[in-house]
Amino acid sequence: MPISREHLAGLFDHLDAALGREPCQHTLRLTRLFLTSHSLPEATVVPWLGQYGGYCDCEVLANVEDRWGE
Ligand SMILES: [Zn+2]
Repeated sequence: MPISREHLAGLFDHLDAALGREPCQHTLRLTRLFLTSHSLPEATVVPWLGQYGGYCDCEVLANVEDRWGE
């Protein structure tokens, strides 16, 4: 996986909090924001999320957390 467990847990927390305030716009806007602000490589992390069905912020939370969350 191209992102550490710690960062992945941080991403899920970030999405969970943000999507509690605003609905998903069916983009990876919030995910990309998190990756950029933590200097994580979007170019490798975004396709990896897609591999697990994470094509937008709510899907990252629903599908990727389902697979990788603890
Ligand atoms: Zn969505």
